[in-house]
Amino acid sequence: MVLGAIEFQERLAGVVAALDRVSAGVRIVCVTKTHPVEDLRVVLDAGCVDLGENYLGELEEKSRLLGVEYAPRWHFLGHLQRNKIARIAALCAEIHSVSRSEEIASLARRGFAGRIYLQVAAPGGGESRSGADAAEIPGLVEHARSLSVDVAGLMAMALPGSDAEVASYFRSVAQLADRLGLAEKSMGMSGDFLIAAAEGATVVRLGTVLLGQRSL
Ligand SMILES: *Cc1c(COP(=O)(O)O)cnc(C)c1O
Repeated sequence: MVLGAIEFQERLAGVVAALDRVSAGVRIVCVTKTHPVEDLRVVLDAGCVDLGENYLGELEEKSRLLGVEYAPRWHFLGHLQRNKIARIAALCAEIHSVSRSEEIASLARRGFAGRIYLQVAAPGGGESRSGADAAEIPGLVEHARSLSVDVAGLMAMALPGSDAEVASYFRSVAQLADRLGLAEKSMGMSGDFLIAAAEGATVVRLGTVLLGQRSL
């Protein structure tokens, strides 16, 4: 079912009002992964130009289907596969999921002119966790600066946990960003964006709360 324009605008207004009660000036990236291109037109028509996607193939297809009529600012949120980084760099304004020095070097080689966020791993999570340990982040920032890759800030993606645990992780990421002089904190998804905003998020990445359940 295609997203209704009124339905979307109402959800967006609700989210903006809730955010404003907690913190001023938080930017919203609308996460459109798995949603059809018709939905993206509804989102763009409502004035949301920052769109987040996780899979390069899907992003390229949507970019092609949207054509020249629409010019979203694409945000890449997914795993950065080595053989796809060049194409991700060519399309995206911001990449939120950088966590390895090889990825930074690869983006530099491609002359990536956008901004990156370094993802800080959530505590726990074991082998499958994504992101770099907090202790590695200062070195990665140095590496990026030495290669003239623009680090906008840090990204956090919480694991399931209590509100207090999620808040404590977001707080530690915000404090690390502040210590490193990084302005942006990309923290918070549909289930925890108000906690993130209270802990200093400057960017929230919202899918379900704006677009409804994903089909895949
Ligand atoms: C899918 C995704 C989101 C959006 O998730 P919702 O819970 O639907 O808001 C945000 N950030 C990342 C990194 C994602 O992969």
